[in-house]
Amino acid sequence: MIEIRTSKRTEIVDITSLVQNEVSKSGVSNGIAVVFTRHTTTAIMVNEGEKGLLDDLEDLLCRLIPRDAGYKHDYIDNNADSHLRAMLIGNSVVLPITNGELDLGTWQRILFVELDGPRSNRRIAVKVIRE
Ligand code: ZN
Repeated sequence: MIEIRTSKRTEIVDITSLVQNEVSKSGVSNGIAVVFTRHTTTAIMVNEGEKGLLDDLEDLLCRLIPRDAGYKHDYIDNNADSHLRAMLIGNSVVLPITNGELDLGTWQRILFVELDGPRSNRRIAVKVIRE
């Protein structure tokens, strides 16, 4: 289990090294790792961690799913945009492990997406399965 703290309403956190730590602790050399966020207003994705690109994603999410657009869920919890943005991105990724290392491409990073922060205790489950 990985626990992280976020400091903004929308924030993208590179968790690649934290996931690699979990893989190393497992002792598994070859297999898969499942990375799953346990929250309904966060997401997990694999992509490039370049700052401009991550800003572009935030801008896109705001255009696609603006805040306060008359959503039904806002009548009870005022964060419908956070849930809807999370649904678009997805809540888990599966990664290959080769020789004890996450087998990522050159530019690939594992990115946790906070969509209703800041929060002090976001939990991400990592399950490592031997081949
Ligand atoms: Zn809600």
